[in-house]
Amino acid sequence: MSKQVLILPGDYIGPEIMAEAVRVLEKVNQGFQLGLELEYGLLGGAALDVHGVPLPEETLARAKEVDAILLGAVGGPKWDGVERHLRPEKGLLGIRSELQLFGNLRPAILYPQLADASSLKPEIVAGLDILIVRELTGGIYFGEPRGIRTLENGEREGFNTYVYNESEIRRIAHLAFSLARKRDGRLCSVDKSNVLEATILWREVVEEVAKDYPDVELSHLYVDNAAMQLVMQPKQFDVMVTGNMFGDILSDAAAMLTGSIGMLPSASLDQAGRGMYEPCHGSAPDIAGQGKANPLATILSVAMMLRYTLASAEAADAIEQAVSAVLDQGLRTPDIHSDGQQLVSTVEMGDAVVAALNC
Ligand code: NAD
Repeated sequence: MSKQVLILPGDYIGPEIMAEAVRVLEKVNQGFQLGLELEYGLLGGAALDVHGVPLPEETLARAKEVDAILLGAVGGPKWDGVERHLRPEKGLLGIRSELQLFGNLRPAILYPQLADASSLKPEIVAGLDILIVRELTGGIYFGEPRGIRTLENGEREGFNTYVYNESEIRRIAHLAFSLARKRDGRLCSVDKSNVLEATILWREVVEEVAKDYPDVELSHLYVDNAAMQLVMQPKQFDVMVTGNMFGDILSDAAAMLTGSIGMLPSASLDQAGRGMYEPCHGSAPDIAGQGKANPLATILSVAMMLRYTLASAEAADAIEQAVSAVLDQGLRTPDIHSDGQQLVSTVEMGDAVVAALNC
């Protein structure tokens, strides 16, 4: 039976990087006879412009039915003035929570060819291979009550709620332990249990889940220390697991270790392993429409989708090898470019990956 993939290009550079990722997906679909059917939908600002909401009913309905979703990026200054509940990013948060995509996998892998593009010394980052597992549907981004209220003295006050229940912590911990088991067997849980009660519970539940994984070595770090360790000695980490907000911040920091946020794919999985795949970066309005966007994070997201949800490891390997091959050829978009390498546009990078695909 054929499998369906919903493509949501999104806003600003979203459609540019997605066009290249789709060319790669179409080529492996044909070459490996995967039988995938691709269809398109609107999300974010693009949906707001057409339907007046960032997550239209029909997008959500299709998202619930298909096997996997490939997303570009949403948001940007065009919609800065819209009401908060209509912001493009609400569409993204909405789809993640409606589909219960609680497990966000963000690998930070440094391709040896890009060791010079990192902001850290090559010897500190060479061979870096970290997997950050971020809880995606709970924590302070979703906690209620939330809002901005006016106090009796007329002063305004913003407030949010940092909340995690046991079952939310348990399911993300199980996912992280099972992934660590398939890698180097080391898991670092990141919290702020010296200050936040919600993360005292986080640590307790992670300790309980650890009993099911005696083969995985568990450690804990406070988030401030984790941030410091990530830039000081990043190779000490194998898998890191943390809540929504800390994971958001730490994974962007890890991204920069690898040279560019334009290189990093991500997966967001539900309990059954169905998922949405997207680059870690946003819609990069500052470079949109100029052919400067690096499409590799989105192309590598296609590889993750094939590996984790569509069970086509062979095709995933082929894509990752093709990306490595174009980096070997010295081709670089501006974000990863340095002297002596060939500067290429978004489309030229896509051309090169398609040409390097062995299928
Ligand atoms: P951003 O990730 O879009 O951009 C940060 C910096 O990285 C910019 O200088 C940008 O040019 C660069 N960059 C990002 N992706 C790149 C790529 N593929 N190639 C080369 N350079 C790249 O973050 P931002 O500027 O804070 O946010 C812009 C918009 O994107 C905002 O509206 C934000 O809400 C939204 N956003 C969306 C997502 C998402 O859709 N998942 C994630 C983060 C931010």
